Amino acid sequence: MRLPIIAGNWKMHMTKNGAVEFIKELEKEVKDTDVEVVICPPATLLNILKEAAKGTNIKIGAQNMHWEKQGAFTGEVSPIMLKDLDIDYCIIGHSERRQYFGETNETVNKKIKSAIDHGINPIVCIGETLEVRKAGNTNSLLKEQVTEAFKNITDEEAKKIVVAYEPIWAIGTGETATPEMANETIAYIREVIKDLYGEDISEEIRIQYGGSVKPSNVQELMNQEDIDGALVGGASLKADSFSQIVNF
Ligand code: PEP
Repeated sequence: MRLPIIAGNWKMHMTKNGAVEFIKELEKEVKDTDVEVVICPPATLLNILKEAAKGTNIKIGAQNMHWEKQGAFTGEVSPIMLKDLDIDYCIIGHSERRQYFGETNETVNKKIKSAIDHGINPIVCIGETLEVRKAGNTNSLLKEQVTEAFKNITDEEAKKIVVAYEPIWAIGTGETATPEMANETIAYIREVIKDLYGEDISEEIRIQYGGSVKPSNVQELMNQEDIDGALVGGASLKADSFSQIVNF
C-alpha cells in the first residue's frame, strides 16, 4: 500500500503573517489524517514555516533548488541550504520552471540526483501540453521525461522519488483531466517505471495527479487505483480548501 501524499504548491504567493496563520489553521484540520501533507512555500518562507510546523504532521518542501552544493550562482538556493533548514521535499521540474526558466530533462535529472544525495525527497513534475495530447504523443513524451529524469538513479534512490503527473493544459486553468484519463496516464507512467526498475519498485513509487485539483473533484481522483495523491496549486492557498482536499 502506498501512503497518499498531498502537497500544496504556493508558487509565488504568500508572506509571513498569512503563512503562519495558514499552518496554525491547517494543523487543526489535518492532525488526524493518514495522508502525508506537504506545503511548498516560496523560499523566503521555508525557515519560518519549518518552525511553525514543528511538532505537527505537516512537512515542508521547497519549490526548486540548484544541483550544486554552493558557488557563483546568483539568486539560487542549494540543497545544503535546504538541508540546513531540515526541508523534507523539493518540487523539481515544475512545468512553469521548464517553460519560463529553461529547465530541461537534463537539469531535472541533475537536481533529482543532488536532492537525493542531500536527503531531500524530490517531487518530480512531468506532463504534456494540449498540442502534444491532441497529436497523440502524450505517452511518448512522458516516457522520455520519466526515462531522462530517472537516468543513473539507483533502485534505492528511485524509491524516494514522488512523481507528479501534471498535464500542462490543466494547471491553473480550471480544466481537470477526467479521473479515468488521469488514472490511465498515471498507470502508463507506472509501466514506464516498471520497465526501468521492475514491478516491485514501480508499485512502491508514488505518483500524484496535479492540475486544478479542488475540494469538489479530489475524491473522484483519489478513488482511482493508480493515483496516490495530488499536487495542488491554486486551491492550496487557503487553509480551508486545502484541508478539505487533504481530508477528502
Ligand atoms: C501546480 O501548479 O502544480 C498546479 C497543479 O496548479 P493548479 O492546482 O492551480 O492547477
